Amino acid sequence: MLFLALKTKKMNIVLFGPPGAGKGTQAKLLANYFRIPHVSTGDMFREAAAEGTRLGIKARDEYWGKGNLVPDDITIGLVKERLGAKDCEKGFILDGFPRTIGQAEALEKISKIDYAIEIQSSEEIIIKRLTSRLQCKKCGKIYGLDVPPKKDKLCDKCKLPLYHRDDDKEEVVRERLRVYKKQTRPLIKFYKKNGLLRSINGEQKIEKILDDIKKIVQEKL
Ligand code: AMP
Repeated sequence: MLFLALKTKKMNIVLFGPPGAGKGTQAKLLANYFRIPHVSTGDMFREAAAEGTRLGIKARDEYWGKGNLVPDDITIGLVKERLGAKDCEKGFILDGFPRTIGQAEALEKISKIDYAIEIQSSEEIIIKRLTSRLQCKKCGKIYGLDVPPKKDKLCDKCKLPLYHRDDDKEEVVRERLRVYKKQTRPLIKFYKKNGLLRSINGEQKIEKILDDIKKIVQEKL
């Protein structure tokens, strides 16, 4: 019954919360479980920079490399195009978008959202997590204090060296947190008002957070 529901019900999920709350990790697990695409604006910007596109380089040098948000018009255009793709027809998990009220309002015009899930975490834990987090450039898997790689600084799957994101340096993390409070935290009120807000304790084990999110989503199926 549940399997049938998962196959037929459209699921448009927004995951938001401070940087380092575990959105990326949860989004990947949920995408795999519900078989819908994981749409991460952060990944899109990093990929564009790695490919050397003008937009990617500009976004990195002027914005994300410094801990600032990429302007709404660029980000909204990117997301609109991505959500219009065929693989998003059955739903999607948005990770890191919206991050401003302007983006949330634009998203309402692009697609109907079913759940806005806030992953909460304290600043102290976030700083500890981000400054020790490592990522695989190839598959994007994130390693940290709670999930260390089996071999020192090598991806378990790809066996390639892991890297520390430039924007995970402590001074940049502090700036990202400041930006979060000012620009993204107002989304809590926005999604509370339209009844879509659900909040999850992001300081629990990864499996427990995943379970909590699955329960919220399955409630509505
Ligand atoms: P993330 O991997 O989600 O932490 O994103 C990395 C960086 O990409 C952020 O610090 C921003 O500079 C930029 N970015 C990602 N998503 C957005 C967004 N929705 N709006 C503006 N900038 C974004």
